[in-house]
Amino acid sequence: MLEQLKDSGLLKTQAFINGEWVNADNGDQFSVFNPGNGEKLVDVVCVGVNETRRAIVSAEQAMQQWKEKPAAQRSAVLEKWHALMIEHQADLATIMSFEQGKPMFESVGEVNYGASYLKWFAEEGKRVYGDVIPSAQNNRRGIVIKQAVGVVGAITPWNFPNAMIARKVAPAIAAGCAIVLKPAAETPLSALAMAELAQRAGLPKGLFSVLPSTKAAEVGGEITANTIVKKLTFTGSTPVGKLLMKQCAETVKRTSMELGGNAPLIIFDDANLDSAVEGALLSKFRNSGQTCICANRIMVQAGIYDAFMEKFSAAVKAFRLGEGFDQDTTHGPVISQKALNNIDRKVARAIEQGATVVAGGKVASRIGNFYQPTILANLNSDMDIFSEEIFGPVAAVFKFDTQEQAIAMANDTPFGLAAYFYSQNISRVWQVSEALEYGMVGVNETAISAETIPFGGVKESGQGREGSKYGLDDYLETKYICMGGL
Ligand code: ADP
Repeated sequence: MLEQLKDSGLLKTQAFINGEWVNADNGDQFSVFNPGNGEKLVDVVCVGVNETRRAIVSAEQAMQQWKEKPAAQRSAVLEKWHALMIEHQADLATIMSFEQGKPMFESVGEVNYGASYLKWFAEEGKRVYGDVIPSAQNNRRGIVIKQAVGVVGAITPWNFPNAMIARKVAPAIAAGCAIVLKPAAETPLSALAMAELAQRAGLPKGLFSVLPSTKAAEVGGEITANTIVKKLTFTGSTPVGKLLMKQCAETVKRTSMELGGNAPLIIFDDANLDSAVEGALLSKFRNSGQTCICANRIMVQAGIYDAFMEKFSAAVKAFRLGEGFDQDTTHGPVISQKALNNIDRKVARAIEQGATVVAGGKVASRIGNFYQPTILANLNSDMDIFSEEIFGPVAAVFKFDTQEQAIAMANDTPFGLAAYFYSQNISRVWQVSEALEYGMVGVNETAISAETIPFGGVKESGQGREGSKYGLDDYLETKYICMGGL
């Protein structure tokens, strides 16, 4: 990998604590692998509780000055960091494709998407407004100001090794907070490269520390127990999110949670077929199905079902599996052998329960963690696949008859992150948009995310929003000041 980087200084394997690259106290390391061929890439420092504690203490110190600076000065550092990410996008994408496996065009897209949060919050951080509240008494006024929430702990997943970090770090830094991050052990290199660029951008030491570790429970335990940390922001699975919320309850920390999804993608008879097929392909198979907003249940109305299946399956059968940097690759591997086994188990269970395999259906016969792009049909809501997040390149297609039935099916889940539907009927567009119990609804569009919009879920998909003007609120406290005796 090193020889493919223009700037080899971006490949970091130590932890980044208080502005320094350091080893673990006990010398521990862990290996990072290429999911496309199973080969080891590098060994990375594996920190524990003590290093985590030091990072938190240095974050508190660093924040004292940072939060007092005018927002424009914080903004300038974020702008510089953004510019460096764009300048080094090819290297950042290469590192990502090596450790995560996604095709280069997706990695480049993610680096740009991640960088966009730095720019957005550089700008938005200058617009943290308060309020003056009309008072019931003549001799007093109510004032509301917004202040940095305090030291933030962040725990992120492997599916978007850059963007899931940028969306948390950018608003935290813009708001005047310091942030201590534990990236996923599968993909620490993207996080460490971001820290290197933060340092080059002039971000003062201690404001952003990165703690690579396989000891997730220990590091997470310290972040959630430490009284210095005032907020936890997490993206990952619902079970781990619930556990962390419980841990945070002990010190009443604020939490932002981006958890699992079970996104419905509903295609009504009155949809534009070609755009529905295109949207379904993109939403289901991006990152080989490993995103929390991937269409997990594709629901197609009876009248358009056959036409949809014909075009959809033809396109899926044309996918080309391969390693991320192979130019011909349209779809990469899944993250690990364990993930591969999980997907295979879910497909086998669906078949056992009566599903028909329209495409794929098996582990691919090649080296690396590859699963055949798969389409399952003949499904119903009693099957396990209806309620499980698949997190792999497997499209589960359901048939329905009426709008009421589609809405009931779509909402029949404890999750509520993203939902999508295709229809050209304006009345239906409003009715269905309002009836879906989801934090985000894509109408005739599945590429819904951007730095400008509030990303987040309801129900067991989480709480809080990332991106947009709303995304900054998660890193700000509201303080009321009563001015009396006027
Ligand atoms: P996934 O199944 O996508 O890996 P996880 O929720 O297990 O989702 O992982 C998301 C992040 O949470 C990763 O950084 C992982 O290391 C971390 N994590 C997993 N278990 C714990 C835990 N008990 N405490 C803190 N962090 C954890």
